Amino acid sequence: MKILMNTKLIDRGQAKVDIEDRGYQFGDGVYEVIRVYEGEIFTMDEHLQRLERSAGEIKISLPYSLTELKDRIRELVSVNQVWDGGIYMQVTRGVSPRNHLFPGSDIPAQLVAYPIPSKRPEELQKTGVEVITAEDMRWKRCDIKSLNLLWNVMAKQEAADAGKFETIFVRDGIVTEGSSTNFYAVKDGTVYTHPSNHFILNGITRLKILEACRNAGVNTVEREIQASELDQYEEAFISSTTIEVMPIVKIDGKSYSKGKPGPVTLSIQKAFRDLLPDRKKD
Ligand code: PMP
Repeated sequence: MKILMNTKLIDRGQAKVDIEDRGYQFGDGVYEVIRVYEGEIFTMDEHLQRLERSAGEIKISLPYSLTELKDRIRELVSVNQVWDGGIYMQVTRGVSPRNHLFPGSDIPAQLVAYPIPSKRPEELQKTGVEVITAEDMRWKRCDIKSLNLLWNVMAKQEAADAGKFETIFVRDGIVTEGSSTNFYAVKDGTVYTHPSNHFILNGITRLKILEACRNAGVNTVEREIQASELDQYEEAFISSTTIEVMPIVKIDGKSYSKGKPGPVTLSIQKAFRDLLPDRKKD
């Protein structure tokens, strides 16, 4: 496998991380995961713009322009013959003697991108998944796709240890998002999801789902969902680049839409798939 390390495509075995890379020592960096469907890079512009925004919010300058980056990512997909998979990419503040203070502006950011396996979880998309809730203990800039994922990692593990798929975060009584997903609840045919502010990552899949809902004539409302009122909703689902639209059938043991994916969720799943590169449409 070839990986992109700054400006060069090199063999995976040749890639080394310096012990003083700030990503390694401080989690001082940002990342993206992009989906490739049948060789086509899905929503690359949106992901790269979000990468640039995340980096900018923590005062990292990307080492290339987005146009150059796009060309390099296309090259990466092509040399590795990625057909149905993903691309992981991250940018750190660079390599410098350990010190909390930013290094000088002469220290370049370090970029790495490489293919990762990613297959649509088709079975789970049909059956739906169970989730649990937990307190959202993350910092208050969840809109930045930061490498600091400690609470997300803890929460995902807690779900797995309980035999569940995902943990949904609750901050001050409000449902925010999942440990690696956005969250939606459905009532009377309307889809509700948290507004895109500092408390959630504005998922690229979320944006596409809102578009898919418009296409399918499904009403959407971006507004806070009270955790205490969750049981008043009929359906729920989560989304991300890798899982797309994933129905939730139980939250903390309580069933939604009789323990099966709900009809509105299934119609959104379909409308989302209709936005994917041609050959993936059902
Ligand atoms: N929220 C969080 C916390 C995430 O980690 C992710 C996945 N990166 C998402 C939402 C979904 O984002 P996207 O649809 O861009 O994959």
